[in-house]
Amino acid sequence: MTGFVITPPSVPALAVAASDQVFPLRRVFCVGRNYAAHAREMGSDPNREPPFFFTKPADAVVPASGAVPYPTATKELHHEIELVVALGAGGTNIAPEKALDLVWGYGVGLDLTRRDLQAIAKKDGRPWDMAKGFDASAPVSPLLPVASIGHPRQGRIWLEVNGQLKQEGDLNEMIWPVADVIASLSRLVTLQPGDLIFTGTPSGVDALVPGDRVRGGVDGVSTFELTVAGQ
Ligand code: MN
Repeated sequence: MTGFVITPPSVPALAVAASDQVFPLRRVFCVGRNYAAHAREMGSDPNREPPFFFTKPADAVVPASGAVPYPTATKELHHEIELVVALGAGGTNIAPEKALDLVWGYGVGLDLTRRDLQAIAKKDGRPWDMAKGFDASAPVSPLLPVASIGHPRQGRIWLEVNGQLKQEGDLNEMIWPVADVIASLSRLVTLQPGDLIFTGTPSGVDALVPGDRVRGGVDGVSTFELTVAGQ
């Protein structure tokens, strides 16, 4: 092999808080329906379902600041505020008791969702990719290292749109806590350094429109503020 036939894509990365270094991204995994009240609002029984996962491309991650574009092909862009886990180590078949050892840090992110396309996909038994994995579908705050904040196990998770509280919950309401999410995912794929995991959203998901000002946070981790730009 003598070289790449096109210029190699750059490595997507996230800012690290209070640092000029960045965290390189490999893959983005998301867990569905991890707070009972949100599972109910989406029409599911929260007591019956083991965790399930979907993915977004790593370059769908953008800073949760400034203007985030309203995507094409939807009339129902939903916000989902989530605790985001950044892995600094990998492995397969990780025991829950060892799972937090893989975590490098945490951030706060939005799992932006074309809810109208997701509803069609669910109805027709089709993949969720275009409902979940579109460009700029994963705004994330700068990451905070475990070395500075530890492992958040409880704390308010919240989101406001134009100053109005829309989503509110507590990390201790997760059906599958972070360690269980990592352990479960590691039975499906070999986790790698640079992988991100979105850990699910509390209830109150709703539609955003261009011009909306979105603030969100997780107590003990981070907060962010962004605006929704036009197409
Ligand atoms: Mn989500």
